[in-house]
Amino acid sequence: MLTTNGSQLPKLAGELKDAGVKRINISLDSLDPVKFRRLTRVGELDKVLAGIDAAQQAGFEKIKINSVILKNRNDDEVPDLVGFAADRGMDISFIEEMPLGVIGDHDRAEAYYSSDEIKADLEQHYTLLPTTETTGGPSRYYRIVETDTRVGFISPHSHNFCDSCNRVRLTCEGRLLLCLGQEHSVDLRQVIRTHPGDKDKLKQVLRASMDIKPKGHEFDLSVKPVIFRHMNMTGG
Ligand code: SF4
Repeated sequence: MLTTNGSQLPKLAGELKDAGVKRINISLDSLDPVKFRRLTRVGELDKVLAGIDAAQQAGFEKIKINSVILKNRNDDEVPDLVGFAADRGMDISFIEEMPLGVIGDHDRAEAYYSSDEIKADLEQHYTLLPTTETTGGPSRYYRIVETDTRVGFISPHSHNFCDSCNRVRLTCEGRLLLCLGQEHSVDLRQVIRTHPGDKDKLKQVLRASMDIKPKGHEFDLSVKPVIFRHMNMTGG
């Protein structure tokens, strides 16, 4: 499974599919080019929309939209984003913002928009049926009766899911991050360079690293973030 901002998919979707990627999550926080640019700071909406089309053409098993919703910024687009996903036969997950990295654009506590608020907005337009279906990730899914789409809610603040966490992340520098919300990590690049080709050593280090995997995050939107690493350095 790959999580991406979609901007390189017009170029790389085919190669990723050939390389064996089956499922792909694409971040899309707005369908308004101006708002999209403001929310992503650098993103171009048309590039991401072209990326979504390219992913569909490449024929991945599953494509899902991920949207981070902020109050008074894009919360008004929730029904449109679901409509966008439904028109393309995709699922969509709404994510409560995680306080990773120092930002100047907005006050995270002020912009916080909970999954329950998003769900209530959606129920003005659609019928949501809870489902036990899962993708192995933290989303709590609902079927949207009027469509073939499932909507998921990833709620690190309002419905903490750390106790069932099964995730570690490998950064592009070979750092194994044991928790998105903490800095606990193991330098796998160092291990591979020190013990080239030694799979047993690598397995041993991976197993041992689980001993330092934190129980969960300590996110607090009312204080300055403790994790200075931005989400785009972690990849989601
Ligand atoms: S333990 Fe860490 S990685 Fe796991 S769900 Fe909680 S914050 Fe995310």
